[in-house]
Amino acid sequence: MNAAAPNILVVEDESSIASFVSLYLKNAGYVVRTAANGSDALAQVAQEMPGLIVLDLMLPDIDGIEVTKRIRQSSDVPILMLTARDEDVDKIIGLEVGADDYLTKPFNPRELVARVKSILRRAAPERRERESETIEHGDLHVDAGRREVKVGEEEVQLAPKEFDLLWELLDHRGLVLTRDQLLERVWGYTFAGDTRTVDVHVRQLRRKLGDASPIVTVWGVGYKVSPAKDAKKDTAKT
Ligand code: CA
Repeated sequence: MNAAAPNILVVEDESSIASFVSLYLKNAGYVVRTAANGSDALAQVAQEMPGLIVLDLMLPDIDGIEVTKRIRQSSDVPILMLTARDEDVDKIIGLEVGADDYLTKPFNPRELVARVKSILRRAAPERRERESETIEHGDLHVDAGRREVKVGEEEVQLAPKEFDLLWELLDHRGLVLTRDQLLERVWGYTFAGDTRTVDVHVRQLRRKLGDASPIVTVWGVGYKVSPAKDAKKDTAKT
């Protein structure tokens, strides 16, 4: 990965949006390439993996969800999805496609740049510091170095931000973290952002982990993981 000026691929069929997004990103010091449809985006990714992808959900050929799925088969490259409607959020972050974040149109380009910076900051170095760290919680086994989650012996596939969120909560067992705190720690926002992102990811984690999910909702505050109990649920397993 090139540390100096990460290059960003902007995938957007509306040329006016593509050009102002590119302009703001270039002004922020990034090298920017553009693609006007999904197949061009995939071709460019195959040629050279960018440091981050800004990806419009509605594209004329292959939509953003399908593009994300295909990229995720081989890469964890951060993806910031652009969507026209707020209701699409569940789809984007849901469906296991694993976009890292989203912005609803119309958006302030400065906010887009701020998000890109946060995502890149989070995507890079700190993760390495926790190599070989693991947390056991009930049936749950989480390995930060391998970014691997197991329930019992079974591996569960999590999207990058789902993993980070789970780790953050496990790492602060017994403490309640507010949605804003989680946004700041997992997504890197330094301002109060759209906290629905947190809720959608928690929902996905619960769905994927099932009974092994350790996440407890603290109404009106946020989320927490209770300290691991030795007496975890001893449900009979066949
Ligand atoms: Ca579009």
